[in-house]
Parts: sequence; C-alpha cells; structure tokens
Amino acid sequence: MTAQRDVHHFINGKAAPGTSGRFGDIYDPNTGEVQAKVSLASKSEMDQAIEIAKNAQVAWAQVNPQRRARVMFKFKQLLEENMDELARLLSIEHGKVVADAKGDIQRGMEVIEFACGIPHLLKGEFTEGAGPGIDVYSMRQPLGVVAAITPFNFPAMIPMWMFGVALACGNAVILKPSEKDPSVPVRLAELMLEAGLPEGVLNVVHGDKEAVDAILDNDDIKAVSFVGSSDIAHYVYSRGTANAKRVQAMGGAKNHGVIMPDADMDQVVKDLVGSAYGSAGERCMALPVAVPVGEGTAERLIEKLLPEIENLVPGHSHDPDAIYGPVVSQAHKEKVESYIQMGVDEGATLIKDGRGLKLQGLENGYFIGPSLFDNVTADMQSYREEIFGPVLQIVRANELEEAAALASNHQYGNGVAIFTRNGLAAREFASKVNVGMVGVNVPIPVPVAYHTFGGWKRSAFGDSNQHGFEGVRFFTKIKTVTSRWPSGEVADQAFIIPTMQ
Ligand code: NAD
Repeated sequence: MTAQRDVHHFINGKAAPGTSGRFGDIYDPNTGEVQAKVSLASKSEMDQAIEIAKNAQVAWAQVNPQRRARVMFKFKQLLEENMDELARLLSIEHGKVVADAKGDIQRGMEVIEFACGIPHLLKGEFTEGAGPGIDVYSMRQPLGVVAAITPFNFPAMIPMWMFGVALACGNAVILKPSEKDPSVPVRLAELMLEAGLPEGVLNVVHGDKEAVDAILDNDDIKAVSFVGSSDIAHYVYSRGTANAKRVQAMGGAKNHGVIMPDADMDQVVKDLVGSAYGSAGERCMALPVAVPVGEGTAERLIEKLLPEIENLVPGHSHDPDAIYGPVVSQAHKEKVESYIQMGVDEGATLIKDGRGLKLQGLENGYFIGPSLFDNVTADMQSYREEIFGPVLQIVRANELEEAAALASNHQYGNGVAIFTRNGLAAREFASKVNVGMVGVNVPIPVPVAYHTFGGWKRSAFGDSNQHGFEGVRFFTKIKTVTSRWPSGEVADQAFIIPTMQ
C-alpha cells in the first residue's frame, strides 16, 4: 500500500481542508489502490471561495497588464523548473506515461506563453474624430470571477487553457478540476502564488455535481469555461446560460482519420498508432476511427498496422519503456471493454482484442491492450458513441466524399484528419468537412496556443473557443466610450456625429 495523502482545496493562497465531510478516493490506476483522498466541496464552501475570489479580483484588475504578464513569465519559469515533479504526479493519478504527462504540461505552458502577451492583446480600438471633437474608443475589461471546470484527461493543459488567459485578463478564477486527478491543479495554483499572483485570485475548489451546481447558481460567477463529456457539457451550458452567465462548454469527440490511396502508409501507420492508442486513447483529439478510401488502401493499412500494434506495450505509467499506461478508473475500464463487446455483438470484425490484459505485479491495474476493429459501419452504436479507450475502429469507404460524409454526419465534430499527397483533395476536404479542427497529414490537429481550440456539433456548446484571441474575448467584456472635447468653433455646435445628419 502506498501512504495516503489528503488533497485539500486551495483557497485564498493556502491549503483549505474540506469541511463538508465528503471525500472522493483518488486511485493509482496502475495498481487499483486508493492513494489519496480529495475533499468534495459543499455549496456553502464553494460560495465562500467565490466570495474570497470576488474580493481579491478588485485589486488584481487594477494591476497593469504588463505586471500581470510578468506573473505569467515567472510562472512559466517555475513550470519548467518543476516539470519532472509535476509530470510524475500527473502520471500517477491519471495513468498516462511521464512523457505524455510532460506533453500535457508543455501544451498548457504554451497558453501561458500566449498570456504573456496580454498587454498587446488587451489594447482596444480608437477612432479619432468620429464627429466634431468626438473620439470613440473601446476597451476590454475583466468579467470578475470566472469558473474553470475541467476533465480528468488533461489535468494540467486544460486548467492552463482557462486560467492562463482569464487571469491575464484581470479576472479571479475558481478552478474546479476533475476529482479523479486533482493534485496537479493544486500544484499549479501554488506555483502561480509563488510567481506573484495575489492570494485569492486563483482558487482550486474540488468537488462533484454539488460543487459544479454551486458554481452555476452563484450570481458572482460571470463566466464558466467547461471541458468534459457532452451530456455534462450540455447540462452546464443550459444551467449556466439560464442563470445569465457566459458559458463555453466543450464535450466529447469521435475523430476520423481519412486515408487516401496516395497517402504515405508508413507515416499513416506511425501517426495512427500514436493518436489512437497514445495515452490509452483518452484524448479528445485522438483518432479512434480510421477511414481508408478504397479496398486496396484498407488492406495495406491493416497489413502494416497489425505488426505495429503487436509491439505496443502498455505498462506502469512511470515505466520509461511503457508506450501507454492504464485507463483512469475501474469503471472506465469496464465501459471501454463493454464497447468492445458491443462492437463484436454488432457484427464488426475484432482483429485484435485488448481485453483481459493482466500485467505481472499490476494485476489490479486498469490496463487494456490495444484493440482493433475492421468492418465497422456507421449504423453501429459502438461507432456512433465515444469509447475513449485504446480502441481503433476501421470504417471502409469507397470514395473521399463518402469518407468525408462520415465525419461530417457524426454527432461529434471535434477533430478530423486527412492523409494524402493530393493538395487539392486536402484543401477541398478541409474546406467542406463539418468539423471544427482539421489536420492535413497531422493526426492530432490541436491548434497552437495563439490560434484557438474548439469543436463543432456535440463537441462544443456555446459560441467561443479556448485560448488564442477567442479566449481573450471570452474572458473580457468590451466597453465603448464616445467622448467629446469641443473647442473653438466646434464648441458652439450642437452635438452631432455623421450618422445623425
Ligand atoms: P466528465 O464530464 O465526467 O467530467 C468533467 C467535469 O464535470 C469534472 O470536473 C467533473 O467533476 C464534472 N462533473 C461530472 N459529472 C457531473 C455532473 N453530473 N454534474 C456536474 N458536473 C459534473 O468528463 P471526464 O470523464 O472527466 O473527461 C472525459 C471527457 O471529456 C471525454 O468525453 C472527452 O472527450 C472530453 N474532453 C473534451 C475535450 C474538448 O476540448 N472537446 C477535451 C478533453 C476532454
């Protein structure tokens, strides 16, 4: 047994043990053992934290943008210095291997780098002489207290997507991370404090539905940024907007990789193995569906894919030789395995079955071997729904149009990729496909931090994306000032601007 830790809330710059009397278990997915307990906040604990954030935000908003940016610069430096410790902690709670955990932190850090440019990003607009002696200018101001509600699968990157931009804009933040792997979000808040963020401006409050509902019903929360599964995303969006909040709520995914006959198949196979099985398939931008165009393409794909899959070794997430680790929980393991059974029952061909994997010494870990299905069709429930595990489904198509229609008609529209050497086909595909993020020979097309992240259809509710300028827009409100300083002859004229003539 590993020694047990208590993961407390982080409120007003310090650890705050929960008072609700409710706790969640944090498992080590490698062993199936409980390694820590996390406090689950009650409504009154959440309301108190929001009150603290509200008070702290007033002074933070007065700190000039350049100084706020300096906190971000310092935080980035601290992230780099603490990378190894953070990655190992993330890995032992989530189950992704340490190299993946570093990628998780790195991608979040890139949003912090973006947020370092906040003085430039917050510059408003100015029109001189909109009328006689009249100037018009607009400025972006923070919203106040905003909430970040995040999923288990990127416990560093997704919190940083949100609090990086929100804090730089002058807001205070309540971060409600996943209760499955909450330790890294707390460490991030501690490092923000060390970087110079005033107490109470970033608070981490753990919890489940009760904590989320308290956020959604509190009038002092002005905006909610959520990432998680689609049903919860829709719920958060509906309840948050009904309470007149600004809400962006990203949901699930089922991303397709279309493989054209002219694609470089060696490259495709390498990319598919990484993007379908990496991080045990628990990425919202994974490619769990491969759509080879033409029978010959499908045969070549399977021929090259199978030996690669044989070499895929899941293992303990701290083992440097493991390609991927366990899935996050026993319940999730059972869910993924039930989808594999569903695929079999629906008539898909299970070429490689990863169920029943037992690793020596880690018999109670939540490991699933790589699984591969062929002859999956669009009417199958196991295709229509998100599995979120190391399972790749091959859906064969005859034409590019048919392949594109599969992605376009799917309920989810997060990401999609096309593999081809034909620039024109790729260009048309990228233009027409009904999906939010497209990769051309790029298997996981997560946009860089200064662009913006967001899916379509049931992959996102609300009309704004994460990070990039969209993030700045989401976490600020615009104020427009029309000012008149008449002098000389102009002073004697009635107030007039051109559109009033
Ligand atoms: P989840 O929906 O179970 O949890 C997300 C958050 O919602 C957590 O903080 C959780 O505590 C909270 N929550 C859970 N149940 C709730 C309820 N009934 N009421 C209110 N709040 C509740 O998601 P997860 O399992 O942590 O994460 C995996 C999901 O997230 C997958 O569906 C994945 O595709 C999705 N995801 C999407 C993106 C994206 O950008 N589109 C990115 C990463 C993950």
